[in-house]
Amino acid sequence: MKDISEFKRHAHEMVEWIASYFEEIENYPVKSKVKPGEIYQALPDQMPEKGENLSRMMEDFDNILMKGITHWQSPKFFAYFPANSSLPSLLAEMMTAAIGAQCMKWETSPAAAELEEKVMDWLKDAVGLPGYFQGTIQDSASTSTLVSMLTAREKYTNFLINEQGFKNQGPFRIYCSEETHSSIEKGVKIAGFGKENLVKVEVDDHYRLHTGKLEEAIERDKQKGMVPLCIIATLGTTGSTAIDPLSEIAQIKEKYGLWLHVDAAYAGSALILPEYQWMIKGVEEADTFVFNPHKWLFTNFDCSAYFVKDKQALVNTFQLVPEYLKTRSDEQANNYSDWTIPLGRRFRALKLWFVLRYYGMEGLQEKLRQHIAMAGEMKQWIEEHDDFEMLAPATMNVLCFRFNPGNIDSEEKLNELNEQLLHEINQTGEIYMTHTKLSGQYTLRLVIAQTDVEKEHVEKAWEVILSKAEEIFGQEI
Ligand SMILES: *Cc1c(COP(=O)(O)O)cnc(C)c1O
Repeated sequence: MKDISEFKRHAHEMVEWIASYFEEIENYPVKSKVKPGEIYQALPDQMPEKGENLSRMMEDFDNILMKGITHWQSPKFFAYFPANSSLPSLLAEMMTAAIGAQCMKWETSPAAAELEEKVMDWLKDAVGLPGYFQGTIQDSASTSTLVSMLTAREKYTNFLINEQGFKNQGPFRIYCSEETHSSIEKGVKIAGFGKENLVKVEVDDHYRLHTGKLEEAIERDKQKGMVPLCIIATLGTTGSTAIDPLSEIAQIKEKYGLWLHVDAAYAGSALILPEYQWMIKGVEEADTFVFNPHKWLFTNFDCSAYFVKDKQALVNTFQLVPEYLKTRSDEQANNYSDWTIPLGRRFRALKLWFVLRYYGMEGLQEKLRQHIAMAGEMKQWIEEHDDFEMLAPATMNVLCFRFNPGNIDSEEKLNELNEQLLHEINQTGEIYMTHTKLSGQYTLRLVIAQTDVEKEHVEKAWEVILSKAEEIFGQEI
């Protein structure tokens, strides 16, 4: 950075920009309304020949790009799962960018490696994982799950597939529920198992993995000469935050000697609350465990906390030490690039450290409990309203429901009605929510978890839902 005075001038402007963004964030339509191609066409066809000035870029950002931004940090955001940021996280990201270190090996930034080890230890205790787990920060739960499956594959075959590729082994079978996240299927494809070897086990009436069906599937596969390898349990399915029965799954894992990965991407954060510790009963049997502080622990994307029981199996799966990467400290420290797919790594531990210290355990617990309490209230409004119904149990702060005014006889029509309702709700720009399908029913899905969401926003959301429902139904509800 040569021109420090230029940097200061623009950085100050930028901080002002960010501050007013947060002050005004609720005035923006939360979901962007641009049409496909609109932003692309508003941008020049070629890069500039000569360097441009930063103020012009900011102008273009405001005039062109802002229209195409969906405001994930708005307290009116109730869609998907959140990708929360927070004040300490954002500030730490600035420092990370300033330092710009590659944190692949201990030597390439010792503080990054050791801080990562420390915050992962803190987090492990905070969520109640057994002490023998060791953690690292991955970019996403998708990567963590893939890494887990690759480790399972290598450990089972004594690292032979890494050497020779698939020869006559397998077919390896991977088990998860019908409600698991799409990243599992992606991982199965990338790991070379083949999509047809992903066994999606039926769920019970609360959308949890049915363990009886799981065991039947494993038995059936064994009889056919297939090789059951790995079970993936989900704590907090993406559709309805169903919690798979981990302790029963753990027993099956034990009985058949399989690998067990726990995907708690969203709901894992709730483990910092003693009242949600029941979810991980049986976790001692898990080989790997992932949850995303970048969803519901106020640490901006990307920050996925991945914990493993057998560090050596993980490192043996990935480690490569070409001459130019050999260092004198290799034996004494964690070189986290050996724990994952890419070589290069950002200094992600910093923002997590900032967040954990800024809020403290109490502050984080309080925030999560507030979200869960607000969801509890809204659930009551839904249940008490004659024309709405809940479609899945509300485990924490995700509400799955639909508009059902009673006199509509076909499921198909109800689905259409709710799809239209969702579209109309999101068109208002007042709130943004998304949907899922549960047992074939089009389900409105509202997540109360944004960093700054308050009761007034939840009340407003309910108001918008009611008024749009009335409007499309054409009569008072
Ligand atoms: C969000 C989510 C994922 C994917 O998380 P990424 O970090 O975006 O890869 C995986 N599993 C579950 C259950 C999720 O909710």
